[in-house]
Parts: sequence; C-alpha cells; structure tokens
Amino acid sequence: MDNKRAEYIDSINRIVIKVGTSTLTHENGRLNISSIESIVRQIADLINRGKEVILVTSGAIGAGIGRLGLKTKPKTIPEKQAAAAVGQGILMHIYEKLFAEYGQIVAQVLLTREDMSHRIRFLNARNTLFALLDNNVIPIINENDAIVTEEIKFGDNDTLSACVASLVEADLLILLSDIDGFYDSDPHINPNAKLISWIDKITPEIEAAAGGAGSHLGTGGMATKIKAAKIAVSAGTSMVIANGSNPKIITDIITGKNIGTWFKPKEKPLHARQRWIAYSTKIKGKIYVDDGAEKAIIVNKKSLLPSGITKISGKFSEGQVVSILNSKDKEIAKGIVNYSSNEIEQIKGLNSSQIENILGHKNYDEVIHKDNMVILSL
Ligand code: GLU
Repeated sequence: MDNKRAEYIDSINRIVIKVGTSTLTHENGRLNISSIESIVRQIADLINRGKEVILVTSGAIGAGIGRLGLKTKPKTIPEKQAAAAVGQGILMHIYEKLFAEYGQIVAQVLLTREDMSHRIRFLNARNTLFALLDNNVIPIINENDAIVTEEIKFGDNDTLSACVASLVEADLLILLSDIDGFYDSDPHINPNAKLISWIDKITPEIEAAAGGAGSHLGTGGMATKIKAAKIAVSAGTSMVIANGSNPKIITDIITGKNIGTWFKPKEKPLHARQRWIAYSTKIKGKIYVDDGAEKAIIVNKKSLLPSGITKISGKFSEGQVVSILNSKDKEIAKGIVNYSSNEIEQIKGLNSSQIENILGHKNYDEVIHKDNMVILSL
C-alpha cells in the first residue's frame, strides 16, 4: 500500500462515489449494463464492510437519448430535459433492480444548486441524506435535470458530487470516469504524459494543466474535476480520480492500492459555514478592492471596510454572498455583505464614520465582516 494513502484508508467510513456518463452508457447512449453491475456489486460490498455510501450518478440524459432513439445529442434545453426525464427513470430502475439483488435499498434524491444556495434547503438536504444513511439506504443523487434552468444549475456532476461530499462531510469522494487519473499534461496530446498518483496541494500549475485559465491542454472534463477536488479537500475530504472501466476499481481504491490520483484533504478544513460561503451558494455580485484592503484581508485577516472598495458590479442585497476581487481582477475572497449594492455604491471609498451621514443609518462599520468571509487565494 502507498504510505501516504495508508494514513487515510483506515479512517474512511463515509464515501461519495460519482459515476460519469462514459462509465454508465455505451457510445450509442444505451446502458452499459456490465459496467453498472460491477459498480453496484462493489458498492454493495463496501456496505458489507460497514461503510456508508452515497452514489452520485450521471447518465440520465445519455440513457434518455438511447431510449428515445435520438441520432444526435439534443441541442435545445427542453429536448435535453425531456431526455433527462426519460433517462432518470431508466437509471433508477436498473439501480433498484441490481441493488435489490444484493439486499440493498436505494433512494432517489434529485438536487439543484438552489438546494445548496439556500441555507434552510441546504440543511434540509443534509438531514434527508443522514436519515437515509441511518436507515441503511443508499442515496442515489443526480442533478434535477428535467426542471433545472441555466441559472440554478450545477451543470456537471463533478461539482455536484463535491458539494454533496462537503454537505455530508464525507471522508472520501471517488470520481469515476474514462481516464486513469490526473496527468501532468493532456495524455490525448502528449504520449509521454505522466499520471500523478498523489497531490498534496492544488497549485495554479495543476489548475492550468487541467485546462484552467490560459491553458489549452485540458480535455475530458479535467477542469471540473480539479474544481471538485478544491471543494472536497477544503471540506477535509480526500478525493480520488480513477477509471470506472476497471471492474475492481472501487475495491482497489478502498484497500489502498496505488491507483488513480489521490488528492490529500486539508489538515485544517474550512468550517461548514465557510464552505457554504465559498462553494455552495451562488455569487450575486463582485466587489473590487484596492491593494491596501487586499493586504488587510489576506495578511492581517481583517474585515472589509468601505474605504478599500474601488468599484462593484451586480445587484445584490444585504445578506447575500459576493466575490471580492483585487486590483488585478483576481478573486481573493468571498463573503456575506452587510449592505446592498445600492448602498455600497454610495459609501465605497469612504471612511466608515461617514456611512451614517450618507445612508441615514449605520448598522455596521464593515461591508463584510471577517467572520463572514472566506479567503480563497493561495
Ligand atoms: N446530470 C447529467 C445526467 O445525468 C450529467 C452531468 C454530468 O455528466 O456531469 O445526464
């Protein structure tokens, strides 16, 4: 066993497993039954080992396309949603049937980003998942593709599964797709690309190699997988990217075999509230700050005062989450605002003592209090 992995393997109890469309369906969109069977068998076995498992499944749109006999991928949103509505039922039918063979009960949970954005719905989703796990039921999660609109969409199940892992404070998130792991460059282009087995920290170089800003290397959804890894590790969850076509992959990972790419969880994870600010909720606007305010926030861990704000964008009200950007337009933090965009427009650049004169009231000196802020820069 890889020594670095050994440190984590024994304490892994709660596992979120995300299976991608490429693992669940053939090219023509019909279900890949042998692949689904092997995933179900391995998950049933994990449960027999005493683990808790949540499955995040893709493949609804793919399976819908297959069943409807569509020759090409639907282009319009209603067509995609119709395919998802058909396919989701097909997926659940096969999971229900196969898990039942191993004596396991399953439940369908369809989520949207809204369920994570609103604190009450976020807590409600969490309670539902815990109630299912307490009853030895395997929650099977997908995005609610049939009704979700662009604005409230996760858009990819890598991000969805990472938010779920953070929501339930999982010990491990496994992303199964058609690639063996994370490579130092794109293996489709560079035959000498090397698989990286262990990642201590997600550096800007790793993000660039995955197809982040300024890179043309990333394909195969690696960018969303790295984004998922950032969410997972900051929640204290280990994450593994591995190839779902290996019929023993889940068992291999869970027994510590050196396979796929393992992302080390942060030793000091963000608190639940900070994670909610950083990743779960949707950003309603942007606040740009000068160099002095950037230093105050990042180095001195201070609150954001009106005096350091240079401009804002977006319409938001008090209590909503916004991004904070530095003078180079780089996002450095996120936080919950004490004032609306209209109010900040009037008090930006001013001393806090002037707030009351201008607005006619002053509930806070800070535009964003440090306790309601999460610093994102490395
Ligand atoms: N929710 C989509 C589906 O079930 C998949 C999204 C993804 O592949 O990441 O078809």
